[in-house]
Amino acid sequence: MEKHIIVVGGGITGLSIAYLAARSGMQVTVLEKAGNFGGLLHTFPVGGTHLERFYHHFFTHDAEIRWLIDELGIRDNLAFYPTKMGVFHDQRIHDFTNINDLFGFRSLNFGDKLRFGLTGLYLGKSVDWRKVEATPALQWLERWAGPRVIQNIWRPLMVTKFGKYADEVPLSWMVGRMRQRMNSRKGNREALGYLTGSLKVLLDALLEQLSQANVRLIADAPVRELLIRNNKVYGVKTGDEIIEGDQVVLTIPAPPIAELLKPYHPDLANQLASIEYFGAICTILELDRKLSDIYWLNITQPGFPFGGVIEQTNLLSPQVYNGSHVVYLSRYFTPDEAIASLDKEAIKTLMLSRLPEIYPGFKEAWVRQVHVFKTNTAATVCDLNFSRKVIPCRLPVQQLFLANMMHIYPDERSVNNAIRVAAEACRVMGIPSEFVPRGPSLSGLIGF
Ligand SMILES: Cc1cc2nc3c(=O)[nH]c(=O)nc-3n(C[C@H](O)[C@H](O)[C@H](O)COP(=O)(O)OP(=O)(O)OC[C@H]3O[C@@H](n4cnc5c(N)ncnc54)[C@H](O)[C@@H]3O)c2cc1C
Repeated sequence: MEKHIIVVGGGITGLSIAYLAARSGMQVTVLEKAGNFGGLLHTFPVGGTHLERFYHHFFTHDAEIRWLIDELGIRDNLAFYPTKMGVFHDQRIHDFTNINDLFGFRSLNFGDKLRFGLTGLYLGKSVDWRKVEATPALQWLERWAGPRVIQNIWRPLMVTKFGKYADEVPLSWMVGRMRQRMNSRKGNREALGYLTGSLKVLLDALLEQLSQANVRLIADAPVRELLIRNNKVYGVKTGDEIIEGDQVVLTIPAPPIAELLKPYHPDLANQLASIEYFGAICTILELDRKLSDIYWLNITQPGFPFGGVIEQTNLLSPQVYNGSHVVYLSRYFTPDEAIASLDKEAIKTLMLSRLPEIYPGFKEAWVRQVHVFKTNTAATVCDLNFSRKVIPCRLPVQQLFLANMMHIYPDERSVNNAIRVAAEACRVMGIPSEFVPRGPSLSGLIGF
């Protein structure tokens, strides 16, 4: 009899584990709480095609996602595009794509610019992240890049992304981020990847292959209980249904895992419950014209309700969306912030009200449609020495495993890194995965 693997959570981590297990001939069941699979990769219809609810792009060095794309036979859909970056600072938009733009940035003097560039290069190329886990990134940058660089660039960027945790972000995270961005540069320019047709193409192909391999894909099936006897897991309970298996792997966020483990391992459950998450809101505008030529605009001016403007149609042509110009206004939040409890209409009003400050002349009449999407588990809060908080994949219950976003640290959470984590989890579970190529990502290093 083949081993029966139960995968809890049908996001890309869970689906990748299911794919690898099924590829090795194992029997697999995937249980997903929501009505459909994909988790944070969900898309929705826009202008005759589909678009991610939360902006998604890939980097040129993302070897793991390229592998999966090849396996699924959708390589022709992957294209890389040069991108233009910018910052909104001191009431105006500054281009921030390449070294020339940096030299034109007037809020910094020549020495500041040099220190900004050299510290970034040093972090991305030479620093061992393990040695700087206890060092707050902003503190280190203040010392080496200087106070004006901190005040004009790093602090506002970090506050936008990490809110009240900005001062606790370890330098190791910055090392991961710098490596990620530097590896995706071609000369003086960054190139970012996107799947023609959206991530729906990847999800559809993956689900199709899983179905062909007889994987049981069960949606609307929140796992509410683990079945454990003599400290060995033998199944799970979803509603009234009991599903028995040889191994169970949990790919869901830490808080629901804490609930599942509470009756059996209260100390471990407490550790899991202490792992916090950032939420994210993406307000997506369909416009009748473009806002700018910039794909990614960081807002470093304090007080804005969003921290990034991502103009999707500066990556792809508006023709893809039947002529609409598509823009994400992105905002991360912690549960105690007022925005966490606003309804969609209030979010929409708040976001639109501040656009004219960035794009003078902006009128609501340009807006054809607005969509608001929110998640409470966009990314784990990785604070100082976070690697000590990461719970190992092999849990202290026999045949019970854990693989989720916390295992991506010190890298940035991404689809590519979720596939890496899935491959590492499979190795620990005895499922062959050594053929999944390993890119330069720092994910999947802790807990396996
Ligand atoms: C705003 C934003 C922007 C992003 N941008 C990018 C990007 O540009 N590039 C990139 O590569 N990545 C990006 N990502 C990250 C990427 O989406 C994630 O890293 C990845 O999707 C995580 O997958 P996952 O399977 O680990 O988690 P999830 O997608 O969260 O999946 C977990 C699943 O578990 C289910 N679940 C929860 N509880 C239960 C339960 N009790 N029983 C059963 N199921 C349960 C959930 O419904 C969910 O489907 C972005 C994410 C966000 C939020």
